[in-house]
Amino acid sequence: MATIFSRIVAGEIPCYKIAEDERFFAFLDINPLAKGHTLVIPKQEVDYLFDLDDEVLGAMQVFAKRVAVAIKKAFPCLKVGQAVLGLEVPHAHIHLVPMQSEKDMLFSNPKLQLSPEEFAEVQRKIVEAME
Ligand code: 5GP
Repeated sequence: MATIFSRIVAGEIPCYKIAEDERFFAFLDINPLAKGHTLVIPKQEVDYLFDLDDEVLGAMQVFAKRVAVAIKKAFPCLKVGQAVLGLEVPHAHIHLVPMQSEKDMLFSNPKLQLSPEEFAEVQRKIVEAME
């Protein structure tokens, strides 16, 4: 059975898409730690990030870099932090989170409750920054 993230890539489940190429896909996390919190995934269904082939993992990191640069432009921050957990969804993904300090990367922090309009605005800003 397809993972929830594969169903997002297929368009069966809606998302706020940020970027896509033949192999990778980026979209807003539905329970963001901060405005701009984005997930980067391979379209290939692999559970554990470090099971990806070296070449795919490298290319995914370069793709994530492009997204991170745009997030930082759209949501000025000290740095965009990167985290890999994968405890909830068994489809490899990188979290990109704008941060001002270390505590902004705590996944135990309360998540933001954004309206559809707010999500769309976050999406628009990052997508524009990628152009
Ligand atoms: P992890 O597997 O890294 O522990 O957490 C999975 C992440 O995916 C969580 O931050 C969660 O909010 C996000 N997530 C889970 N299901 C969905 C979904 O259907 N859509 C989106 N956009 N994000 C999701």
